[in-house]
Amino acid sequence: MEFEDGFTAKNLFRQGYSYTYDDVIFLPGYIGFPVDKVDLSTKLTSNISLSIPCVSSPMDTVTESSMARAMAVLGGIGIIHSNCSSSEQAAYIRAAKAGHFPILSNPVFRSPSDRIYSLDDFESSPCILVTQSGDSNSELMGYVSQLHWMELTDGDKEAPLIDYMVKSADAIAWNSDLSEIVQYFNEDGSKIDFVPVAGKSGEIVDMVTRDDVERLRGYPRIVGGGTLGADGEWMVGASIGTRESDKERLEHLVKAGANVVVLDSSQGNSIYQIEMIKYIKKTYPELDLIGGNVVTMSQADNLIKAGVDGLRIGMGSGSICTTQEVCAVGRGQATAVYKVSSIASQSKVPIIADGGISNSGHIVKALTLGASSVMMGSFLAGSSEAPGAYMVQNGQRVKRYRGMGSLEAMTKGSDARYLGDTTKLKIAQGVVGAVADKGSVLKFVPYTMQAVKQGFQDLGACSVQDAHELLASTLRLEVRTGAAQVEGGVHGLVSFEKKPF
Ligand code: 5GP
Repeated sequence: MEFEDGFTAKNLFRQGYSYTYDDVIFLPGYIGFPVDKVDLSTKLTSNISLSIPCVSSPMDTVTESSMARAMAVLGGIGIIHSNCSSSEQAAYIRAAKAGHFPILSNPVFRSPSDRIYSLDDFESSPCILVTQSGDSNSELMGYVSQLHWMELTDGDKEAPLIDYMVKSADAIAWNSDLSEIVQYFNEDGSKIDFVPVAGKSGEIVDMVTRDDVERLRGYPRIVGGGTLGADGEWMVGASIGTRESDKERLEHLVKAGANVVVLDSSQGNSIYQIEMIKYIKKTYPELDLIGGNVVTMSQADNLIKAGVDGLRIGMGSGSICTTQEVCAVGRGQATAVYKVSSIASQSKVPIIADGGISNSGHIVKALTLGASSVMMGSFLAGSSEAPGAYMVQNGQRVKRYRGMGSLEAMTKGSDARYLGDTTKLKIAQGVVGAVADKGSVLKFVPYTMQAVKQGFQDLGACSVQDAHELLASTLRLEVRTGAAQVEGGVHGLVSFEKKPF
């Protein structure tokens, strides 16, 4: 028997309101399976599958090599930002793909004829790797550890590295897994606390430290497998704009091995984007392409017809974003995701709900309302994998997080996302701020996914596809009043500590 209880999504989203995630709540369904049966694997684009529905945003305070590597290890994907030169962006892609170990060390490289002048030259790395060229991607000659250097006499310290480095060509292969690395460190005679990592053709690309291995072993075990390409390397995405110069940038990115490209625009329904989609599809027919951003059915329809393999949804929903205030355009993210997915699903184009994610419940809502994955900025920006160093603000450890439409970011070049080519007066559509230290994504993302699975179980959905089907059939929703939202959070306590895991 069918009861009259709650609204279908179709009815709820046609009332003329722009709802965001916090406005709506799902009514629970029936649990007929254990939480471990929930499978969060999904599609990023028509051709790329992910084990978890998580994508890191192409922002210069979110995704460079470390984040992209970690996201791929977790089974998601990172999109490297383009607020840098094309060669820097290509180098970030190469570094992310250069090894399987989840943590990048970014070691210091020197040539045999170089000298070390002070401990600062180690840049807090336990050692300096000596390679033929003095850079990465070159033959390993030896190394100098901090300890070794400190024990030298002042006279010896003035000598070139070749005179006192430990001559060693010992390295592990780029695709070594954790157990092989643990075995390496446990082998008799292997007393050093780090090991260089050799790339595909034997050149040195990175290093793994004993501390990183220990750290990793303390994180949740990653189930589901990482996002690997056919060549055995991690899959990595990159963003570009829609200007002529972006065609040249794209060439660099493709050579560096980018697996998917995101056209980064706050309003993607434009002649510039449609022409760029056509160009890319013609020039690189094998390359997966994500268009956007869009929030309406007709915007989405245009980009789907132009040939995108995935769509990015969101305008004004980002935590650092002022677009709705400045330009009076945008849409509540829950409504945008539902409306766009209702048209994209007809063409089987997966959609990425971009922005506005601040907890696991928001991810459950985005996926259930029709998204195949979520793109996150602020949720990931406080992690150790995000670019930049931690600082202390009002006694709290924080990392800087800035909108790509903030004046500060645009000064570095990101204005293409928000302005036409000829605009000379820069108007900010984003702010600069800071987010709290959250530790490693390798730790908190698995916990977040477990919470998402519990949400799916409560709904009675075993998978993302299942959630989409439930939405179109038995799932019911309601809008939460202001008081209901207060009631839905912690309330009425004098004090409390919120520890999610
Ligand atoms: P968050 O996850 O922090 O809520 O939102 C991240 C998303 O906000 C990004 O993926 C991007 O779509 C969007 N975004 C990034 N920077 C800006 C900005 O300066 N202005 C606007 N309007 N959106 C931004």
